[in-house]
Amino acid sequence: MRADLPVPPPFMWTCQRCAELLDDLADALGIAASEDLFDGALRSQMILAGHIAHEHRAEVPPAHEDCPRCAYYARQPDNRGIGDLWLEHRARDLFLPASQARLM
Ligand SMILES: [Zn+2]
Ligand SMILES: [Zn+2]
Repeated sequence: MRADLPVPPPFMWTCQRCAELLDDLADALGIAASEDLFDGALRSQMILAGHIAHEHRAEVPPAHEDCPRCAYYARQPDNRGIGDLWLEHRARDLFLPASQARLM
């Protein structure tokens, strides 16, 4: 599973927190590959996506084309507070393969 991970963009290597979280994620994915009940990989993904959405907002990719979730978020009124969720969804592309990145 580790081999499937995309190469993270340069800003993630220059940020110490990103580098730490990427390391944690790689470790967690390694454990999850052999232990079905281990959900640390999910937790790592959420923490890393949250960090990028808050600290690297300008680096978050634009909405995906052909993505039902982006289309859904785009339709929501501003007052639902989905802005962060949407940013985190898009941030996941930066460090996960597309097949996993768009699951949430
Ligand atoms: Zn960072
Ligand atoms: Zn999307």
